[in-house]
Order: sequence, then C-alpha cells, then structure tokens
Amino acid sequence: MGGVGSGKKASTASRRRKALKLRAGGWTLAQIGEELGCSPQAVSQLLGGDGRGSAEPLRCRACKRTICPPRKGVWTNRPALCLTCLAHAPNAPFGNRLQAFRLARGLTQRELAARTGVPRATIRNYEQTQSGRLAWPVLRKLVAFFGPGLVELEPPPESKQTGKRK
Ligand SMILES: [Zn+2]
Repeated sequence: MGGVGSGKKASTASRRRKALKLRAGGWTLAQIGEELGCSPQAVSQLLGGDGRGSAEPLRCRACKRTICPPRKGVWTNRPALCLTCLAHAPNAPFGNRLQAFRLARGLTQRELAARTGVPRATIRNYEQTQSGRLAWPVLRKLVAFFGPGLVELEPPPESKQTGKRK
C-alpha cells in the first residue's frame, strides 16, 4: 500500500497525455510504464492500442537486422548490436556485450535476472552505465548462462563453419 499518490490517483486523462508525450519522444511502452508506474500493457491500453501493432522489433544499430521480434518488456535504453556485429566489435564495452546477448535471446532484464540469479539492478547497471564493476561471481553466472561467447576475445571463425566450401 505504499503508493506515492496520497489517496487521489492521477486522472486517466492526464496519464494518457503524459504517455502520449513520452511516446512521441521515442520512449518504449516499457519505459513509459516504468515512468508511470504501470505495466507496458497498461500503457498500450492508455495509448489506445491493443498492444499488438505498437511494439516494434528491435533492430541492430549497425546492420539493421532484427535482433528480436516485438515483445513487451524487452527494451533497451541504447541502440543494441546483433551478435554478428558484436563479434566484429571486440572492443565493445561489457555492457554492450551483455545487452546484445540478452536481446539475442529475447530476454528482458527481469527474466535474465530470474534465470541467472544476478540481481536485475546489477544487470541494468552494467548495461546502462557501462561502468559497473564486474564481480567475478556475477560474471561466472552470466557466462554459465550465455556461454563463453559472452567474453570471447576473437570473432568466431565464420570461414571455418561446417560444410559449404567448394
Ligand atoms: Zn548487426
């Protein structure tokens, strides 16, 4: 019961105005939801959509390929890379790597937290600030989940992929 509003809720109309304004500013439904303190679904309803057409697939900031299909709750505060482009950016900060791996699996930060046991705040911190101090126990959990590719130093040997050579 620890709400911020004392007794009186902000009117739907004013919430809708705010949501529309944020949406126009390029915010995702999930981001608006966090701002307003409601679910992305609720935001979608607030905006008058059915929640289906409004979500867009996440695209790689470099090659523009779809990273993951439209899904509520999967969002990123900065343009992400697909794993292929990431493989060619060996100097990408860890936060970018983590984000790319997470999105490639279509996971929200919350889901990743639930699956790895790493607190969501920690994941978020790494992804957003790019400067969170990496603790080995955390890194271990993340690598155990994503595989060693998360911390791979060299691009994968594409040319050596099985088969397809004359
Ligand atoms: Zn790409």
